[in-house]
Amino acid sequence: MHKDVAEVLVSREEIHEKCIELGKKITEDYTAKGEIPLLVGLLSGSVPFMSELMKNIEMDICIDFMDVSSYDGTTSVGSIRIDKDLSTSAADRSILLVEDIVDTGKTLLEVKRMLANKGAKEVKVVSLLDKPERRTEDVVADYVGFTIKNEFVIGYGLDYNQKYRNLPYVGVLKREVYE
Ligand code: 5GP
Ligand code: MG
Ligand code: MG
Repeated sequence: MHKDVAEVLVSREEIHEKCIELGKKITEDYTAKGEIPLLVGLLSGSVPFMSELMKNIEMDICIDFMDVSSYDGTTSVGSIRIDKDLSTSAADRSILLVEDIVDTGKTLLEVKRMLANKGAKEVKVVSLLDKPERRTEDVVADYVGFTIKNEFVIGYGLDYNQKYRNLPYVGVLKREVYE
């Protein structure tokens, strides 16, 4: 375990199992409604999760990425800025947004609104983690990997000042690192 990690919350094996389960559910749901989703990963946090999840979706999906900023250090700030927009047209697409974590819900709400404005037919969300205690916006992830308590976590895409994204598990960052 990394020296800055106080506790592992979700192991690599648990994430892999969950991605198989989520991939199966997504495949079934979209097959049932006759739609092929465009997976849109929010950079950079969604990269490891998206990479694992997409391999378990058995449909001819396409992928794209967006980069938005709204988060600095360990507290959420107001509205968001687009650092990288979609390369694909969102018009008439069934978009499945891929997130690392839903916290206050501000990012999701804004991104969903943007994609709806671009003419997306549908916008659903799959998130590796959900921290419902912190929610301030009326927004839900349609597919959630793990619901966690209100602690600042790192790893499997999640960073603290751009570090720790490559850890193969989700862990709680030691308070002494950011206090
Ligand atoms: P929201 O807009 O829902 O408040 O925040 C979403 C974003 O905040 C996430 O995509 C993530 O980048 C960041 N975030 C929220 N909680 C955590 C956390 O516990 N750890 C890390 N590393 N990032 C977080
Ligand atoms: Mg993020
Ligand atoms: Mg970003």
